[in-house]
Amino acid sequence: MVQLLNEEGGKIDGIYVCPHYPGFESCTCRKPKTGLINMAVSDFSISLNNSYIIGDSDSDVLAGKNSGLKTVGIGERIKTEADFCTYNVEEAVNYILKRESKCQKSV
Ligand SMILES: [Zn+2]
Repeated sequence: MVQLLNEEGGKIDGIYVCPHYPGFESCTCRKPKTGLINMAVSDFSISLNNSYIIGDSDSDVLAGKNSGLKTVGIGERIKTEADFCTYNVEEAVNYILKRESKCQKSV
């Protein structure tokens, strides 16, 4: 996946995975918990207010809400209200770019 994205000009800074089985009591990282997001925020000095989570499950959207991220849900499986819902990644990216360009113009 990383190689394919690199070939198309994309960039992945990190991949975070919960190593625990679902229901593991001490896990703080399995979505909708925020442990994995917190690690990325720390590793890359990410501003939560200015960032988005894009996901195809309720746990993705909920993890984003729990972290203070803006949320974009993709697909029909999502029942949790996101800031924006769509059916593909391209539309999600276009939404973010359009929204962020508006924000920059108003500053
Ligand atoms: Zn975990």
